[in-house]
Amino acid sequence: MTKKTFIPIASCMDDREPNVLSVQQALAKIKATLTPIGSYEKCALRTGLGRILAEDIISTINVPSHVNSAMDGYALNGDDLADRGDKGLQVIGTAWAGQPFEEEVQRGQCVRIMTGAVMPTGTDTVIIQERVRREEDTIYFLIGNKKGQNVRQAGEDLSIGQQVLTQGKTLFPPELGLLASLGIAEVKVKRRLRVAFFSTGDELRSIGQTLEKGNVYDSNRYTLYGMLTRLGVDIIDMGVVPDKREALQTAFKTAADQADVVITSGGVSVGEADFVKDTLASLGAIDFWKIAMKPGRPLAFGQLGDAAFFGLPGNPVAVMVTFYQFVQPALHYMMGHAATPSLTYQAKVTTDIPKKPGRTEFLRGVLAQNLQGEWTVERAGKQGSGILRSMSDGNCFIILDTDEQDIQQGDLVTVQPFATFM
Ligand code: AMP
Ligand code: MG
Repeated sequence: MTKKTFIPIASCMDDREPNVLSVQQALAKIKATLTPIGSYEKCALRTGLGRILAEDIISTINVPSHVNSAMDGYALNGDDLADRGDKGLQVIGTAWAGQPFEEEVQRGQCVRIMTGAVMPTGTDTVIIQERVRREEDTIYFLIGNKKGQNVRQAGEDLSIGQQVLTQGKTLFPPELGLLASLGIAEVKVKRRLRVAFFSTGDELRSIGQTLEKGNVYDSNRYTLYGMLTRLGVDIIDMGVVPDKREALQTAFKTAADQADVVITSGGVSVGEADFVKDTLASLGAIDFWKIAMKPGRPLAFGQLGDAAFFGLPGNPVAVMVTFYQFVQPALHYMMGHAATPSLTYQAKVTTDIPKKPGRTEFLRGVLAQNLQGEWTVERAGKQGSGILRSMSDGNCFIILDTDEQDIQQGDLVTVQPFATFM
């Protein structure tokens, strides 16, 4: 399916402003500032699950190491296929997986063979047992077999000298299996990134505290805990910091001393109590960006001592959207993660969706397949940036690009399933 193109039209409805960055511009600026970590550690294969490989892996053996049977059946010389089907072949023994048949097989003979057993000398073809009629020690078969069939060649999965994995690859279950098939017990992986985070806001209470009038429980630290833990970084949870200059200053310093990355939520907009800005300006080189997106318009980014700093907005949905669109790709980059394309698809919207041009919108949607097998998407309930349940009720972002305008029912839109990044 092709992506729709939209002709940008400036209008009085337009949200375009000077000094506002697009999502792509912000991401490019962020990446240009960061450096991937160089250090690595060794770990046992199993502990490597989810870690990022810090070395190239070259195969030192063939996998499989021998030519072997892909099926249970009879191993024979393929030249006997043409005229032996009716005359029959004499079964002279059995080859088991792990227990080879050691004699040489002559023309007119065959060997009962199991899947994974080494092909006996003199054989190159396997006829599956279901296609054979056996009488005592003789087998008969019909035409329709091919020389070389049902045989796995040595090194057909991995061959000696071949580059199997490249550094930057995340070790998922298949990689653990591949490394195991090479007999590798220990791997070099990138050191874990250390990420400190805290929430800002006088109105915030931690779980266990009583809510007074105007208080809300701090949920951002929990979504951040979840998102960061999923990324496989070491986390330092610094709790809630009130909107007080001194408290913020201390928290920023402590965080930057301990971590490679500091993430905060709240306090980056223009509210009166938004001290994060001022405090940061005095401590590091921080840019305050307005990003042409919804939700998540304000974002602070820069350097706090040796640490990279992300000041996310306070609204719970904005935290998640900005994390997934900016912080996660940035952390991947710092972690030494090889770049992977973000997986987006096209789906048909089931209702009209109003859209202002001039900003990218990240709506939460429910992606489903209709009776005709088409992928459709609808908004997951209320879309306010404080409606965190939309992230839970939804299963994808609906991404409406800067230049897109009002969407009509039946239009194709871009969706990014949560399952591809969450
Ligand atoms: P701010 O960006 O600090 O102006 O906050 C914007 C909105 O998000 C306010 O309604 C805050 O109460 C809310 N908010 C900020 N931080 C959190 C948090 N950690 N958990 C839940 N809500 C928050
Ligand atoms: Mg606040």
